[in-house]
Amino acid sequence: MKHAKLIWNLNTREWFCKTCGRTSDLVSADDAQVQLDQYECQVPYVEAPELAPGEETVRLIKKPFGMVPKKKTE
Ligand SMILES: [Zn+2]
Repeated sequence: MKHAKLIWNLNTREWFCKTCGRTSDLVSADDAQVQLDQYECQVPYVEAPELAPGEETVRLIKKPFGMVPKKKTE
């Protein structure tokens, strides 16, 4: 099975893979697993799975300190 982290989302009433974000609206966990297994469990490339949102923010905040603003000569 490719999607090992399926969780039931009570709000949307569908199965949700924590790893790749795919969802299945099938009620049975087994059926949802079969449906999702048609796809590879790949994290969308737009997201950084190894970085928690907090770490990403810290990195963005830190960045300006290392950058020296160009001084205007005029
Ligand atoms: Zn998955």
